[in-house]
Amino acid sequence: MQQFDVIVVGGGMVGASVALKLAHSGLQVALVERQTPAVYQAQQPLDLRVSAINQRSERWLTELGAWSLLQQWRLCPYRRLQAFEGDTPGLTFTADELNLSHLGHIVENSLIQQALWQQFPEQLTVFSPATVTGFSQQQALAQLTTKEFGCLSAQLVIAADGGQSQLRQLAGIGSTGWMYQQACLVLEVDTELPQQDITWQQFHPTGPRAMLPLSGHKASLVWYDAHQKVQQLAALSLPELSRQVQAAFPAKLGAVQVTRCAWFPLARNHANSYAKGRLVLVGDAAHSINPLAGQGVNLGFADARVLCEVLLSANTGALASAELLARYEKERRRANALMMSAMDGFYQLFSNELPPLKLARQLGLTLAERAGPLKRLVSRYAVL
Ligand SMILES: Cc1cc2nc3c(=O)[nH]c(=O)nc-3n(C[C@H](O)[C@H](O)[C@H](O)COP(=O)(O)OP(=O)(O)OC[C@H]3O[C@@H](n4cnc5c(N)ncnc54)[C@H](O)[C@@H]3O)c2cc1C
Repeated sequence: MQQFDVIVVGGGMVGASVALKLAHSGLQVALVERQTPAVYQAQQPLDLRVSAINQRSERWLTELGAWSLLQQWRLCPYRRLQAFEGDTPGLTFTADELNLSHLGHIVENSLIQQALWQQFPEQLTVFSPATVTGFSQQQALAQLTTKEFGCLSAQLVIAADGGQSQLRQLAGIGSTGWMYQQACLVLEVDTELPQQDITWQQFHPTGPRAMLPLSGHKASLVWYDAHQKVQQLAALSLPELSRQVQAAFPAKLGAVQVTRCAWFPLARNHANSYAKGRLVLVGDAAHSINPLAGQGVNLGFADARVLCEVLLSANTGALASAELLARYEKERRRANALMMSAMDGFYQLFSNELPPLKLARQLGLTLAERAGPLKRLVSRYAVL
């Protein structure tokens, strides 16, 4: 049986970052991933899944050496962020008013994962593709069984295996959550207009419509709506879908051609505990959030950073100490719960046609736009 200090299960964006940081810091780390990502190639097609990466996450990826690769590959900075309803001007945040060069970047998920994997040092042992078949805990060790590589053991197992976390289930950690009535359609489009410095979200009673810029005349659009409507849209031919998008999105989007699309159900889920014995959860394995404000992976990277800080402050022999893992949970649970509740507040407030709520949110956006210090505070929280 091969033995490690730490085994990370799940080499997506969050898990790969944890494995990389801990391996760089001298721990014996294994990474177990179901699906090996391809090595980056300049001509690879765009990934439909993209994320708005805030400055905190950018600093984390810079520290790990992945950001410089992403800058050489593909990413799109944005300097303005706008939220509005109907034809109202709404609320706009700009990098200038915060004395920043940019507010964030839109980056393809697969590129972030590939950049992290490309930085893996030799001493990080990768087991992939691997199928986990069992997990058990003893007094001194945790054991993971895989179909392809047999039995592995470590002091601590970090589950970064996404929203449906198999490890969370195998360890018997419950979670609390629900499915939202809305789903979302993600569309890759060619745009006639160059609009690469702004990302915007238009609120609509059936769900928001958002534009995330990509390099060149490309953008990612997100159309939130009732499940049935989203599925109907996803089944249309691309020319017909392009017509529907044109009719539903605000005129300022200009002419677009849809080149690809996929739809996703929306779930909220929060693990009842972030740690149990020698298992600890990070990223979507611990919390899935409504993607409305693009915070999911940013929260995951914040988990990763805090967990690594906490683990690296301990003796190498005490990585699974209950006190240590409680310190990680205390710091991250509150921040994650706050963001999840804020997203639910937005969801309820903006997916509603009741006249008092409609008036309140239009007033809210206008007041927030005019209240300089409050606006700066909110934007600093979202961006930095
Ligand atoms: C439509 C949509 C739009 C979004 N937009 C944004 C955005 O703009 N900004 C943002 O911050 N977030 C966004 N999110 C959320 C973001 O995608 C997730 O928070 C993020 O992918 C979570 O990363 P993760 O590494 O924790 O999990 P995942 O990305 O789910 O990665 C899990 C990894 O574990 C592997 N794995 C799973 N099970 C096993 C197993 N049993 N054994 C071994 N390996 C396993 C998987 O192959 C995968 O590589 C969006 C989500 C959706 C649905």
